[in-house]
Amino acid sequence: MIPYGKQFIDEDDIAAVVSVLKSDFLTSGPQVEAFEAEFAALVGAKHAVAVCNATVALHLAMLVGKVGIGDRVVSSPNTFVASANCAAFVGATPDFCDIDSDSYNLCPEALAASWQDDTKAVVAVAYAGQSPDMPAIAEVARKRGAMVIEDGCHGIGGGFTHEGKDYKIGGHPWADITTFSFHPVKTMTTGEGGILVTDNDDYAQLARKLRSHGITRDANTFTGLGDSSVSLQEQGSWYYEMQDLGYNYRLTDLQCALGLSQLKKLPAFIERRRKIVAQYNTAFADLPWLQTPKLLNTKNAGHISWHLYSVQIDFAALGQSRSEAMESLRDQGVGSQVLYIPVHLQPYYRKEFGYAVGKCPKAEAYYEKALSLPLFPKMSDADVDLVIQTVKNLKPL
Ligand SMILES: *Cc1c(COP(=O)(O)O)cnc(C)c1O
Repeated sequence: MIPYGKQFIDEDDIAAVVSVLKSDFLTSGPQVEAFEAEFAALVGAKHAVAVCNATVALHLAMLVGKVGIGDRVVSSPNTFVASANCAAFVGATPDFCDIDSDSYNLCPEALAASWQDDTKAVVAVAYAGQSPDMPAIAEVARKRGAMVIEDGCHGIGGGFTHEGKDYKIGGHPWADITTFSFHPVKTMTTGEGGILVTDNDDYAQLARKLRSHGITRDANTFTGLGDSSVSLQEQGSWYYEMQDLGYNYRLTDLQCALGLSQLKKLPAFIERRRKIVAQYNTAFADLPWLQTPKLLNTKNAGHISWHLYSVQIDFAALGQSRSEAMESLRDQGVGSQVLYIPVHLQPYYRKEFGYAVGKCPKAEAYYEKALSLPLFPKMSDADVDLVIQTVKNLKPL
């Protein structure tokens, strides 16, 4: 069975991890710093802070942005639950704004129209790898005093063009913080893992501290122990300070070594994914009951790092339900997935925040027709052909 997504691990990746196992540092060592430096360079951000997954990267984004009780955080409903959950982690109110019908991402016009004054942050997700209109989203949010968090989990290494210039996800001026995930199903992997990138020195410093219990060993930032009889200058080399309530959100050297090894292959991963997407687009172009992924801006085609190949299927026109179609694909060895159930309709969000059907009609309509087909670099040409034939045969001519 061809799954909808899968990691690509080779002997170099294995050797990289094994060499860390034989080294002095399993965590908080040189691999972490090297991985952060390479990742920051890749996306063109000033700072990168590696953490144990992207969910905690989003949590840290909330914390460094001082988002908390009484604040509202607006995200797209067409995303993984973590994009919204981060707001609830800090006691803020997660809220949702509808998507546009082209990129299936947060719609800037809808964001402006539904704006509420307590909104402190907007989480803009690059669904499937395609960026939302970040300049327009930033314009709406910043004018109203909110920060912009870019959830780039689907778009590692990807980017977009704007007014004739090329930008990378995580490396443009319209997001304050960008988060990425290295879960095995994503574009590159560290097993579990995530990273937060930013150009803001204060955000980076605080994120680094909160990643490790709120503890610092940086003497320049020491504030002292109150009425301690020992002056700061006399404290010994053991001395450290816990200045804020932090967590253990660290990523290990084992994982960062894997990440460094995967980064070498990332351009090839992205290229292979783009090629498969192009093959699918051509093969499915004439199916009247299937809509291939639309682009917000066709100029972005060569910039997108595709994580998902999500199509819209008119199941009524096809003459079978989505479950039947998925079962038929599965019977022929083709896995598929539905991404995403609109987050505001999840039982937790209905129960805690009273959200209901009708809040984001476009995202709800998108979900009804959504199906993600296999897309990962290890797919062989035969795999790609099998997916194409099986999908085409869903409705016999
Ligand atoms: C995968 C994903 C996350 C969470 O990433 P983890 O590393 O699994 O915590 C958050 N947002 C989006 C859009 C994702 O796809």
